[in-house]
Amino acid sequence: MFTCEKCGAVLQKLQGDSTIGMICPNCSWSVVSTRISPILLDETDFYVYLKNGNPKDSEHIKVVSKISGKNFLSTRATLMQDEPLIFKGKANQVSEIKELLDTNHLIYNIRPDWPY
Ligand SMILES: [Zn+2]
Repeated sequence: MFTCEKCGAVLQKLQGDSTIGMICPNCSWSVVSTRISPILLDETDFYVYLKNGNPKDSEHIKVVSKISGKNFLSTRATLMQDEPLIFKGKANQVSEIKELLDTNHLIYNIRPDWPY
């Protein structure tokens, strides 16, 4: 989350045909794209596949359930698949999910290749 340098309001993403950046909805202060983390502006859909999910491990189910937003039973069914897709989303969301998976020693694949 980025805030306005002038008034502290939360900045909104600004995207036109040839411009990309952030703008303050309050005072119209704006910032150029070079000062923004590219991860926030990345429009790519990333797919996260789990490699070592264990459907018998309730911790795995808990973590994946949190990520996918699915319930326990449905998550367990997902974990029974070979390299299931557990999340599809933008880079800034995937970066949080990566952290969660890393913390829980879960191994995953991200497609397309994770550039950050
Ligand atoms: Zn402002």
